[in-house]
Amino acid sequence: MTDRPAMQDPRSQYPRPPFPRQPQPVPGLAAKMDPVPDHGEHSYQGSGKLLGRKALVTGGDSGIGRAAAIAFAREGADVAISYLGTEETDAKEVIALIEAAGRKAVALPGDVTDEAWCRQMVADTVSGLGGLDILVINAGHQQSRESIDKVTSKDFDTTMKTNLYAMHWITQEAVPHLAPGAAIITTASVQAYDPSGTLLDYATTKAGIVAYTKALSKQLLEKGIRANVVAPGPFWTALQASGGQPPEKVETFGEQSGFGRPGQPVEIAPVYVLLASQEGSYISGEVYGVTGGAGVA
Ligand code: NAD
Ligand code: MG
Repeated sequence: MTDRPAMQDPRSQYPRPPFPRQPQPVPGLAAKMDPVPDHGEHSYQGSGKLLGRKALVTGGDSGIGRAAAIAFAREGADVAISYLGTEETDAKEVIALIEAAGRKAVALPGDVTDEAWCRQMVADTVSGLGGLDILVINAGHQQSRESIDKVTSKDFDTTMKTNLYAMHWITQEAVPHLAPGAAIITTASVQAYDPSGTLLDYATTKAGIVAYTKALSKQLLEKGIRANVVAPGPFWTALQASGGQPPEKVETFGEQSGFGRPGQPVEIAPVYVLLASQEGSYISGEVYGVTGGAGVA
């Protein structure tokens, strides 16, 4: 860990496009990205905000989920991360970082399009960590398709299952384990409000995540459990390099944002920490945008 970042111009704090062309198969690996994303490995400093909490982060191997997992551990939480088996190398790095923060880590490889696995994952978290206080629904599938005739039923099904059904299965299984003070955080997107023509199925799921989370928040208020949405703008992650954008668009990714660059995963982690912590006690049913200046509607 190094010192906290000095005050500086956010436009030049992190790499700006152009980036090298770098297509990867799905799911992409963070370790293969150029430049390698900053998930807070060398910069995030905790201050005990989540001491003793037990968290599950889906898609915690890379990108936004990895940044949340690192931050949670450095804030004092034990953390379980779920990921696909082919992402073992990225996941191992995160497990080591959680343990290096002095916290317990649980590795949960498996496919969230499988209902039985979603339910098992929650059971494994509860047995591995001795409970569950923070649930981050973050695993996601995004494939850019230029026109409606290119979105096959299989594509549509995979996107719905990964982004919506898994959220429902995991949350449904988790709620009975959550005590008053617990927090659920889902990951939507600016795509929920301002969808790209090339992300028909994906944008639909992201709007669904917003509605689901707001409804869930209303239900869970009476249990003292909070539920909120984070809506990222463009973030430099493997999701984009593995077909989330066409390869040529990855070269200029983030250029359209107010800061002229994509966000780095570490720049969104503090919002997950706030929403998970007791400092967020009056925050529920909200959508937090982190967009680099564009805002969410
Ligand atoms: P990422 O590829 O690093 O993370 C996504 C993770 O989802 C993968 O690491 C993988 O472990 C998991 N996943 C995908 N399919 C799965 C499956 N079938 N079973 C189990 N796990 C599966 O990319 P990211 O950008 O950090 O994505 C995290 C979340 O942020 C996603 O929900 C994404 O939609 C959302 N988001 C990202 C951006 C962006 O610009 N990167 C913008 C808005 C929203
Ligand atoms: Mg990954």
